Amino acid sequence: MSSSSLSTTEKLQSFGERHVTKGIGRIAPGVMKKAEGSYVEYLDGKRMLDFTCGIGVTNLGHSHPKVSKAAAEQCMQLVHGQCSISFHEPYLRLIEKLLPIVPHPSLDSFFFWNSGSEAVEAALKMARATTGRQNVICMQGGYHGRTFGAMAVTRSKTGYSEGFHPLMPGVFVTPYPFWHQLGLPPSTPTQTLTQLALNQLHLLLQQQTSPSDTAAIIIEPVLGEGGYVPAPREFLVGLREVCDEHGILLIVDEVQSGFGRTGKMFAVEESGVRPDILVMAKGLANGFPLSGVVSRKEVTDKLRPGSMGGTYAGNAVSCAAACAVIDAMEEERVLENVKERFRLEPAALQDFDDSRSKSLAKRLVQNPRVWQTELKVTWDF
Ligand code: PLP
Repeated sequence: MSSSSLSTTEKLQSFGERHVTKGIGRIAPGVMKKAEGSYVEYLDGKRMLDFTCGIGVTNLGHSHPKVSKAAAEQCMQLVHGQCSISFHEPYLRLIEKLLPIVPHPSLDSFFFWNSGSEAVEAALKMARATTGRQNVICMQGGYHGRTFGAMAVTRSKTGYSEGFHPLMPGVFVTPYPFWHQLGLPPSTPTQTLTQLALNQLHLLLQQQTSPSDTAAIIIEPVLGEGGYVPAPREFLVGLREVCDEHGILLIVDEVQSGFGRTGKMFAVEESGVRPDILVMAKGLANGFPLSGVVSRKEVTDKLRPGSMGGTYAGNAVSCAAACAVIDAMEEERVLENVKERFRLEPAALQDFDDSRSKSLAKRLVQNPRVWQTELKVTWDF
């Protein structure tokens, strides 16, 4: 493709539509050119406020200077330090930085992969191999990715698995304590929802998958795709108790909820519950492909050398970027900012009735100053 023959947005757009697989859904037309902070610039000059944050990825904003600089410098040192050949420095520096911020000090043995789905697969493999059990319990409404194992524990929409069956066997589903899934009114007390969901889990373990066949329970501490619902603390505590009683591993998927999105580094911290395996990705490297699985050394020591790994797993440039992410989050006091935004935004939005909210959303995209003029929320754009 020569640049002169396809120089306009329209030509590129139709080239993409012709040659990029239809299997990818796409929200907005146009061709992205560059992005900085919360804005993405398109080839035709259009500038969009990225409300999706790159789908939960660019928590520090697009092209954060510190992160991009760290990646650029690493590019000139070592790009590909294959993890099955030797250690590389950014991999180990990243572990050093993660050790004090993971939600529990017992989480001390790391494996880095490329994407969230791959990390979920790795967590499922670890759970099966280290417990010697095959079955996995996932949550109704949960989303964990689109590879075969991750797709098997994804229950947010049939669209992800339709046409791809049979999926990985040995997966059982239990309800999330969410009124909507349980067919109850929104006013149902959290305690009732928690009791109902835990009761269903107990029944599942009595009637469908025996604890001695169950390797893991996997949960998003904030249900994402399934409705943006934080799990009540009591539910997570209940899961921990079930896991402790039966030697089941608790896999906490923080691919989306991690790295500051809830005002904590990891959402599960709010509950004080200890995961056996924690999965992270997205915000970890602010856009560079990197995911991580962390567990206890006593668990991961049961893995056979060679059973985990991959050509690009824990890429040096992505690891260097992730180190810079952690530094920037601390230096820029990002968690404090999230908490402040959380305090202001819902209150501001509540002042609007439904019809006004709809037109507001439209105008917010067109002119971000609306945040300041109408919602009286101030921060630098
Ligand atoms: N787990 C959760 C909770 C996610 O939100 C996602 C992606 O949105 C994934 C796993 C899959 O991650 P990836 O898209 O990087 O494969």
